[in-house]
Amino acid sequence: MSAASIGLCRSCLHVRRVVSVRGSEFFRCLAPQTPKYPPLPVLRCGAYEPAPDGPPKPPEASRP
Ligand code: SF4
Repeated sequence: MSAASIGLCRSCLHVRRVVSVRGSEFFRCLAPQTPKYPPLPVLRCGAYEPAPDGPPKPPEASRP
């Protein structure tokens, strides 16, 4: 998935990148005031905070 197709979530403190056992990729949002799986790309978000370590996080092999 390209950075443009993900949008702000790619570099956000609140995102967790999840890869299913079938190889599908999901971006789960942990911020309480937003959808768990926001429609991508996210271009504007009031809860966005830049991740201090920068993008991207390594995938987690788990169910979304
Ligand atoms: S807070 Fe907004 S930008 Fe950050 S992961 Fe959630 S939906 Fe994406």
